[in-house]
Amino acid sequence: MISAKRSSSTNLAAGNAATPRHADPSKRTATPTSPSSRKRKWTPTINVENTKHAVVLRAGEGIGLAATTSPTDWTIQWQDGVVTVDQLLHMRPWQRINHFPAMHHLCHKDYLARNLTKMRNEFPREYAFWPRTWCMRTDAVAFTAYAGARARARAARGRPPRWYIAKPDSKSRGIGIYLFSDPAEFQANPEYEMVVQQYIERPLLIEGYKFDMRVYALITQCDPLRLFVYKEGLARFATEQYGSGPALDNQSQICMHLTNYSVNKRSTKFVDGGADGGSKRTLTWALEYLDSLGHDGTGAIWASIKDIIAKSILTVQPELARVFRTCAPNGDGSLCFELLGFDVILDHKLRPFVLEINHSPSLSCETAVDHTLKQGLLENIFRLLNPTSLNPRKWMRRDRKQAKQRLYLSSTTATPTSTAAPPAAPGSTPKPAAAPSAADQDADVESADEADEPATPPPRDAPSPPPPTDSTPAADTDAATAYESAHLGLFERVYPPSDPATVERRGRCCGVESKGPVAPVCGETAANAAGRAAASRGAAEGDAVDERE
Ligand code: ADP
Repeated sequence: MISAKRSSSTNLAAGNAATPRHADPSKRTATPTSPSSRKRKWTPTINVENTKHAVVLRAGEGIGLAATTSPTDWTIQWQDGVVTVDQLLHMRPWQRINHFPAMHHLCHKDYLARNLTKMRNEFPREYAFWPRTWCMRTDAVAFTAYAGARARARAARGRPPRWYIAKPDSKSRGIGIYLFSDPAEFQANPEYEMVVQQYIERPLLIEGYKFDMRVYALITQCDPLRLFVYKEGLARFATEQYGSGPALDNQSQICMHLTNYSVNKRSTKFVDGGADGGSKRTLTWALEYLDSLGHDGTGAIWASIKDIIAKSILTVQPELARVFRTCAPNGDGSLCFELLGFDVILDHKLRPFVLEINHSPSLSCETAVDHTLKQGLLENIFRLLNPTSLNPRKWMRRDRKQAKQRLYLSSTTATPTSTAAPPAAPGSTPKPAAAPSAADQDADVESADEADEPATPPPRDAPSPPPPTDSTPAADTDAATAYESAHLGLFERVYPPSDPATVERRGRCCGVESKGPVAPVCGETAANAAGRAAASRGAAEGDAVDERE
């Protein structure tokens, strides 16, 4: 854990006060202007001005981040709203913000439906975790035809028609959701897009109640993708018994069909019973409970949950990377990080389905379970970001070294008769200096070659240093991976997976790590890919963010 450190201004003030008035000048070593006065620890900071959740700051301070209100000089910024292009353009390479642009591709119901349906059509087995979904503005005819045909086929076998769930695209927390089985019951809304999804009619029940799981995933880099899944989460229970499932006489009972906390907390039957009882329990409890029934919850079921999370994100990774590169030409793909909340439900055969992905999962701490879970989650995230490696001075030192090397190289190239020693062995390409690596994380900033460092970062409108991606050698990636491995906490690295065969399979399927123009995802034509690109250009800014649980 990073220890809390005092701010530099406090140190300087203390230095002044501690200098005796008539001390021997030869022994006076710590005046405010002497080089040694710069020997102070740098403290990473967190800006939480734009979040309403106190738990973010608590977690940040818990791992040694200092709160700052500065709109420009911060190490980590957490905000409830989406990140704007302007914010990204002004970020320095040593800063981290908690959203990627273009996350609507995953987190808006209609975009998610289009992206995952495309994949499901192309890879029905691999993407069977995505229930059939229709975006009704464009797919109403297809939906009516499908539902009609299914109803006739089932009637021929003496079975009732299937049930569907309609959800407004731009709403959350169960607002505007309803169930229906007759396609004629669907009601379009002129104000927003509706998606209709096949209803999982036979979910796995615990104690007779329907429940879903909130699973947290963290993206720390989009290009190449670095993805982690948190081992702890929530199991959220409906507050009415599920009985034998949807029927005409219970289709409007939201506390039976919806597992949202925000819906069920209003019920008188809601029980705040702690981690292993009541209407909101921990994910661990649910998986271990399944273990106790012989279902291998913590093994096979957890593995398949991680798998569907990775597949969902990989579907949009090329687009995330492309939009990121457009919005942050100087960024290395790790300027942003994103905490995602996956809503996952198990059916009676224990198959997991993704219902929704939230890019602002609720951080409210209304129950005891929330409090412990969310503070721990945030602390783990901040630790994984390796904030002590984000020291601006280290980045500037690296850039200065690079500039010197470039200058030196060009002067030796221009004057071949120069007597100066060559910067590198004949025939070898001079290596750029590495970005501050994970190995630096606990190093102080007081090394001798830093004596002439400016005490403050350069003005924000100064040209940004070159992107670390261009200059980071593989060794730095290894160091970053080693740091991550040592600081995973409750996170598990899901991508890149340790098994190269999985990388190959998923990469081929989803166009991962492709560079250049937007890569078509599986089953998508180049024209569609270009269409997505155009759509995301318009949508990179200004997504409405709604907290979801
Ligand atoms: P919201 O963003 O409003 O929370 P969700 O898609 O998460 O919308 O749906 C809310 C709840 O409805 C889920 O938590 C789940 O309990 C239920 N639900 C949603 N889709 C389905 C589905 N296809 N099958 C069964 N239950 C569903």
